[in-house]
Amino acid sequence: MGKQEDFVLRTLEERDIRFVRLWFTDVLGFLKSVAVAPAELEGAFSEGIGFDGSAIEGFARVSESDMIAKPDPSTFQVLPWRGENPGTARMFCDILMPDGSPSYADPRFVLKRALSRAADLGLSFYTHPEIEFFLFEKEPAGGGVPVPIDAGGYFDHTPHGVGHDFRRQAITMLESMGISVEFSHHEGAPGQQEIDLRYADALTTADNIMTFRLVMKEVALEQGVFASFMPKPLAAWPGSGMHTHLSLFEGDRNAFHEAGAEYHLSKTGRAFIAGLLHHAAEITAVTNQWVNSYKRLAGGGEAPAYICWGHNNRSALVRVPMYKPLKGQSTRIEIRSPDTACNPYLAYAVVLAAGLRGVEQGYELPEGAEDDVWSLTDAERRAMGIEPLPGSLADAIAVMESSELVAETLGEHVFDFFLRNKRSEWEEYRRQVTPFELGRYLPVL
Ligand code: GLN
Ligand code: MG
Ligand code: MG
Ligand code: MG
Repeated sequence: MGKQEDFVLRTLEERDIRFVRLWFTDVLGFLKSVAVAPAELEGAFSEGIGFDGSAIEGFARVSESDMIAKPDPSTFQVLPWRGENPGTARMFCDILMPDGSPSYADPRFVLKRALSRAADLGLSFYTHPEIEFFLFEKEPAGGGVPVPIDAGGYFDHTPHGVGHDFRRQAITMLESMGISVEFSHHEGAPGQQEIDLRYADALTTADNIMTFRLVMKEVALEQGVFASFMPKPLAAWPGSGMHTHLSLFEGDRNAFHEAGAEYHLSKTGRAFIAGLLHHAAEITAVTNQWVNSYKRLAGGGEAPAYICWGHNNRSALVRVPMYKPLKGQSTRIEIRSPDTACNPYLAYAVVLAAGLRGVEQGYELPEGAEDDVWSLTDAERRAMGIEPLPGSLADAIAVMESSELVAETLGEHVFDFFLRNKRSEWEEYRRQVTPFELGRYLPVL
């Protein structure tokens, strides 16, 4: 038993923790949990805990449903909202097959594999997500329009705002679980919040995002409100994105930084952006996986809809921010397409793979776009060589289907499951007759 395992077992005893939740994530990005008694943990560390994977989205065909969850002791944390005496803790798990090999269906493994490809090139991948979401009065009954908790806007300091108390309690909880928060503020739409996590290696970030979503839901429940990560809940207001700042390190050196270069961006940084742009359409089904995701992307509100990069341009898909003092280590690249309802493991895996492909193949970075690309005409954009992102889940699936990069990064199992699942979501959506159609056509047709 290693040091970290020992630490976990000792802490369980010292803090009187009676329940340990083992967490993992299904292919669509939903958190799964199985609680075990502390006495089971020694065995869980050495052999894992067996469970039936056949009922988990994307995990297994029935014939190979026996799976094993093996907790990662470095992710051990006590759950603050469960109270002490007796307390509850959690660990993220890796999913294994009965023979002990990693399960190809496990999103955490998909990201680990992508990270190890970067490690083969001597590179480690760091991420800093800006997570946007809404607070509503309560969960509306099926299909109803939700009511935001306030009428605030960007950076507004609303008097007696629920948002303040909410953010304070939520951040305290995150910090007590070892998740550092860098900024938080009211976002542009009524009831919309943003909380930005401090940068960390991408696997830790993805684990943190899973924890974050649950913490927001728990704090909201406690405060009698409802937190939602739906990409575009209100038609008239901006949606919720999860812009992510990316950096690659070679040892202690930021591989995106070059003193004196334009925007202090190295050749590696330029090629990485070129990779993100070149493969942008292929990876969009993963970074924006729901029918509703495309209502955000197509709806303005500072969400990207076109494949281009810029420096200080908030309509661009990729941005090289400049508001940070450009000291060597802080050069980074912001990708603005992902939404908060993606599977963060899969999304970061395909983003990394796209960027690295640019670096490995030495892609040339096209000219940056400093205009607001939303306000240009189609013809102007075409003249500048700027293509749109996929306009719907159906379009995104169609591009992903022939992507060798995404197939290789997700692995055959996840790639096939994901496409099958998303095709059927689209088919179901396509068969709906919406309030829009009834309101528009029934009176006149
Ligand atoms: N909500 C916007 C989006 O969907 C971003 C707004 C901002 O952070 N400037 O991407
Ligand atoms: Mg922000
Ligand atoms: Mg924001
Ligand atoms: Mg941003």
